[in-house]
Amino acid sequence: MRTRQRGHSTFILLLLLATAGLMTPNLAAAQQESREIGRLVLIYNAQDRAHVDTLANLLIGVFSDLEGAFGTFPWARLPVYLHPYAEYRSRFGNANDAHYTPEERAIHIGYVAMAARSTTELRMEAYVIHETTHAFQHALTGLPPYAGSPHWFAEGLARYCERRFVRNSSFPTAIAPQRVLSELDANPYENGAQAIDYLIGRAGIGSIAQLFGRIANGIPFAQAFVQTFGLTIPELQAALRNR
Ligand SMILES: [Zn+2]
Repeated sequence: MRTRQRGHSTFILLLLLATAGLMTPNLAAAQQESREIGRLVLIYNAQDRAHVDTLANLLIGVFSDLEGAFGTFPWARLPVYLHPYAEYRSRFGNANDAHYTPEERAIHIGYVAMAARSTTELRMEAYVIHETTHAFQHALTGLPPYAGSPHWFAEGLARYCERRFVRNSSFPTAIAPQRVLSELDANPYENGAQAIDYLIGRAGIGSIAQLFGRIANGIPFAQAFVQTFGLTIPELQAALRNR
């Protein structure tokens, strides 16, 4: 009995040591904090609090801009996890710097440093706007962005909003209209932003909320698109090619 108990304790001890060994010292030491900005809930390491103050000030108006554009965000909260970049890459291992997860209904953002750095500055504010736009599409249509619309629409809208609603950017914010010669999904971010800019120029920002409402009512994307904008997707492509 005693031997067995001791064996059990040794096993637990080894397990604890093994678990501790898997965690990097930084991760183990990181103290998490959270802050609510409207329905955005930022979750970050305490050591980044000062940088989050700056980000929070920028985001206070952004969420209401997005609600003004699309309508009231229907979910109670939208978690935004700010990960140190190396942690983000090791955890998610993808080629992006930020993403929205429909399964979790949360945003994850990897940052190099919260402090601005001229060439490697990751545009935290723009990233939050981009991923929050994906969350708005999901929340207001009932469908995750890629399930409820073509990639060019989801990424184009997120890129468009990133530029339109950013408060403090050293990057150009206006979308310069260009002819789009390739298929829209060949470059969903840039071709999509051209398409969204064209559609909003034609039908106004309120048209996006109308499209979302139709999709929420079960109308398939292509059909809802024609009802909202008065042209088919091939006609949109032709208009962008020939303008
Ligand atoms: Zn995106």
